[in-house]
Amino acid sequence: MNIPMVDLKSQYLKIKNEVDTKIANVIDNTEFINGTEVKLFKQELSEYLDVRHVIPCGNGTDALQIALMALGLQPGDEVISADFTFIATVETIALLKLTPVMVDVDPHTFCIDPDRIEAAITPKTKAIIPVHLFGQTADMDRIMEIAEKHNLFVIEDTAQAIGSDFTSSKGWTKKAGTIGHIGCTSFFPSKNLGCYGDGGAIFTNDDNLNEKISSIVNHGMKVRYYHDNIGVNSRLDTIQAAVLRVKLPLLDKYNAARRSAADYYDNAFKNCDKIITPKRFEKSTHTFHQYTLILKDVDRVGLQKHLSDKGIASAVYYPVALHNQKAFQEFKYDAGDFPVTDKLCETVLSLPMNTELDNDTLKYITENVLEFVAK
Ligand SMILES: *Cc1c(COP(=O)(O)O)cnc(C)c1O
Repeated sequence: MNIPMVDLKSQYLKIKNEVDTKIANVIDNTEFINGTEVKLFKQELSEYLDVRHVIPCGNGTDALQIALMALGLQPGDEVISADFTFIATVETIALLKLTPVMVDVDPHTFCIDPDRIEAAITPKTKAIIPVHLFGQTADMDRIMEIAEKHNLFVIEDTAQAIGSDFTSSKGWTKKAGTIGHIGCTSFFPSKNLGCYGDGGAIFTNDDNLNEKISSIVNHGMKVRYYHDNIGVNSRLDTIQAAVLRVKLPLLDKYNAARRSAADYYDNAFKNCDKIITPKRFEKSTHTFHQYTLILKDVDRVGLQKHLSDKGIASAVYYPVALHNQKAFQEFKYDAGDFPVTDKLCETVLSLPMNTELDNDTLKYITENVLEFVAK
């Protein structure tokens, strides 16, 4: 048995003909940069998300950096984000000489805790970056309310939650990443909508922000060789756009397959008091980028070793909270401010999650988890 966290090969084999033909066409047309596939993907993704503007870019980290650059913030301005996330979210804040203010997360949804956002706001706060972690949205009702009250920008990091729906208590439903001022996503191969290399995109409903972002991704240039502002070079390859155009129509099916694997896991673990299965936030559909358990009094290292011996992959997302990362030492976070993240870093475990898991595989995984946990 060899059960990986993600299974891109089996997924590829089902779409191989279409993908191979499209890639060959791009090469045949030598439309490597900003080709037709990029323009069509931009349009098709904006229709799927129901958002006015999609700006493709090089990767998800670039997307976050460019989004922050578009807001015209000044060095020392504070940006609030979650302590429990992938480094990219907060790294870009620091890179631009802004001050990352980390706050603790909700113990059930793993997403930023709105109550703690309010407490972290100072006169220097300019923006909030909620991360829709593991496949469901943060509480965007509360976050937008806080942002409006304090006049803050909201950049949604939806690298792990593309395709998730958020239903507001006001009645509307929108896609993750289209609720705040700007949304950012990644098409890294293992993401829910992944290409075959690096890729990313930025979304906005704001025409002015769209203009700024479109200029920043292309050297601050609207008219060729006239540079209005400092920009970067960040593009989605045409070959990657071609792959994404094959996969976008399958995204809802892919997300449903992930949800159905999650249903299997939930059901298998429901009577085990040493395992807390991931909560599904009632306002968001969960697209299960990761299926992440909280272990109670279980030897995590031992469990991982047991699974590994049986050919089952598992992973800890994330073993070190951002406030404990060496790279952020200069910001002198107060170690006592993050009890939830600290606990999660010690107790979470993610199991294989992808679009290709069948019931036999899931049975084998869950039986082996339960066998170890029951000891
Ligand atoms: C993957 C990821 C990113 C970065 O995306 P890249 O395309 O790898 O640069 C940012 N934020 C989160 C939460 C991610 O999971």
